[in-house]
Amino acid sequence: MSAAGTGDRDVDVAVVGSGPAGSSLAIRLARAGVEVALLDARSFPRSKPCGDCLSPGATPLLRELGVLPELEARGPGRLTGWRVRSPGGTWFAGRFDPDRGRGPAEGLSLPRRELDAALLDGARREGARLLERTRAVGLLRERGRAAGLRIRDGRGRERELRARFVVGADGLRSTVARELGGVHPGPRRRIALVRRVHAPRGPARSGELRLGDDGVLGLAPVGGGRYNLTLVIPRSAAPAVSRSREGYFRRRVRGYGLEAWVAETEPASGIEVTGPFEVKPERLAVPGALLVGDAAGYFDPLTGQGIFRALATARLAARSILRCLDDPALEGAALQRYRGEARRLLAPGRRVQRWVDAAVTRPRVIDGLARVLAARPALPSLLFDVTGDRLPARALVRPDRLARALASPGPGEPGGDARPVWPRTPGRSSPDSSSSMISDRTHRTPGAT
Ligand SMILES: Cc1cc2nc3c(=O)[nH]c(=O)nc-3n(C[C@H](O)[C@H](O)[C@H](O)COP(=O)(O)OP(=O)(O)OC[C@H]3O[C@@H](n4cnc5c(N)ncnc54)[C@H](O)[C@@H]3O)c2cc1C
Repeated sequence: MSAAGTGDRDVDVAVVGSGPAGSSLAIRLARAGVEVALLDARSFPRSKPCGDCLSPGATPLLRELGVLPELEARGPGRLTGWRVRSPGGTWFAGRFDPDRGRGPAEGLSLPRRELDAALLDGARREGARLLERTRAVGLLRERGRAAGLRIRDGRGRERELRARFVVGADGLRSTVARELGGVHPGPRRRIALVRRVHAPRGPARSGELRLGDDGVLGLAPVGGGRYNLTLVIPRSAAPAVSRSREGYFRRRVRGYGLEAWVAETEPASGIEVTGPFEVKPERLAVPGALLVGDAAGYFDPLTGQGIFRALATARLAARSILRCLDDPALEGAALQRYRGEARRLLAPGRRVQRWVDAAVTRPRVIDGLARVLAARPALPSLLFDVTGDRLPARALVRPDRLARALASPGPGEPGGDARPVWPRTPGRSSPDSSSSMISDRTHRTPGAT
């Protein structure tokens, strides 16, 4: 599909947003010969507030996109599971089970600056036209369908970009989704603070979630002796955060029993603030336009599935858009199919995210649950295989899977101690190697989550 085939259009497809959803879609379309303009309000490489952990289910998609060798060469973190500490101090752990589920039993983790740049480079290599520092400010419409975009460049100059098809891959606060109408924000309860640090030791092959009375701290290795710290807190903390981002962040992180560890760290990035998160658009696809990634709906960062969903919705979208471009008469059916497939992909995970959310926002419930999960590591493993996009969400309600998980010790640490033992990061010295076992606090830290 060359420019000649686009008639009075500038391009075949205009993709708004060069995060994982937009860049991966551009790779797939450009590879199929479609003329793609990929635009982003920012210039790359750029960072993005994120936990930086890809679910194992994302790895086969990155392989398809041809970017896996480059990501592997960067020496990313590799997560084989998660450890969770309840507000009362009970640890439980689960590993992805290599004997079941799709794809590998480990996920990659690396800073978004690196992941997103690799995907964008992939799109450029396939021939997508990149328009950085270019913001979509409105949708062009013609005879009841989307016909392109109004865009503004870095110097504030506006012009039209006409396209046969428009894709909103522009994230949580998507302009394209707003233009399609019917975007419902959630209760807007939480915000997040994200920082990457260098540390002489830390969790090696698993991520950690430390749950508090009114917040959650995520900690994960992201390669090269760096760790991602993501603090999710109530939105009511926003004024305190804006008074002193640094002071607030350090105080809260220390409150999770990480005081000694924090003292050894050096910042590898500034502190990024984002939120609130929840958004649900009514219209995933209309004639001439569709939504992918966070723009197609986002619930919560706790289960860390957003990047997989961005890549997976883009994969579905590519198929439907190619069909629309090949034969415009089939557009209605192709878009209907995309709506159905995307909803089937997104809705069950959203339900699991809601359960997780309901549990972690009730400290007594999660304390009780943590004791059960600590005694049966096969149960958290089953949960992490679902949130790791290795098993469908329905696995959690299948009696046979649950019975097996209850009966077997599973791939976790049966009867063992799920508290983390952190090795030293190779190549860096630790001022206090004797404290490499990070001690657990069994009491709550008042006001410090
Ligand atoms: C605190 C937090 C932690 C998270 N942790 C994880 C995790 O560990 N693992 C995981 O899988 N997911 C995680 N997520 C979710 C993940 O970050 C998102 O789901 C993912 O980034 C979605 O990708 P995307 O391409 O849809 O959007 P984005 O990555 O947000 O990209 C959207 C792009 O669109 C651009 N843009 C926006 N508006 C316009 C416009 N009008 N014109 C032009 N460009 C525009 C932006 O500049 C941006 O580059 C986390 C989210 C949060 C908030």
